[in-house]
Amino acid sequence: MDKKGMLIVISGFSGVGKGTVMQLVFDSIPNLQFSISCTSRKPRAGEENGVNYFFITEEEFEEKIKNDEFIEYTKTFTNYYGTLKSEIDGPLSRGVDVLLELNVVGARRIKELYPDCVTIFITPPSLDVLKARLIGRGTETKDSLKRRLAEIEKEGKDIENYDYAVTNNVARTCADAVVHIIESEHLKVSRQNLKNLFVSEE
Ligand code: 5GP
Repeated sequence: MDKKGMLIVISGFSGVGKGTVMQLVFDSIPNLQFSISCTSRKPRAGEENGVNYFFITEEEFEEKIKNDEFIEYTKTFTNYYGTLKSEIDGPLSRGVDVLLELNVVGARRIKELYPDCVTIFITPPSLDVLKARLIGRGTETKDSLKRRLAEIEKEGKDIENYDYAVTNNVARTCADAVVHIIESEHLKVSRQNLKNLFVSEE
């Protein structure tokens, strides 16, 4: 097979509902693989090692940095997050599309390394809706909410570097839009091998 897979990067503020949207996207596109990142943060309730992330210690993470195992990595307040080369290169060369969920720093880095990747930013219907969702899920202290809102203001400036922005008002509608983007990107002439389409064999 000479057709390479496509890289899709999804970003969005925490609380925007990326998880639900991505699950619906995976249900709709069978030839799509999630790039499982490594992180040094502790798993949240319901998260599984090797499914949501590879949960490793800070020391293990630093060992992988030394061994050059990451395409990109980032350190937030206290945690490392990184994309393993092995999560990307294998599937892409087998013609499988790979979806990465990254913060804006990671997305920028991947765009530099793979200019033909497709970057999508999931936005909330409004800042007030996002604030209400963050408060509603009850996981934020006053301080962490303040920190998240500062982060949102900073990350928001990066939206203009993305190829697409999709609002998550209703998860199904948002997921459908993401699926349409992926399908349309595959139809781009530059992604298809059409050279011999009109060449007769005789
Ligand atoms: P969370 O702790 O909520 O799972 O993720 C925090 C942030 O890290 C999110 O914005 C998520 O997109 C980002 N993230 C997850 N994995 C990676 C990664 O491998 N690289 C980068 N740069 N960001 C990541």
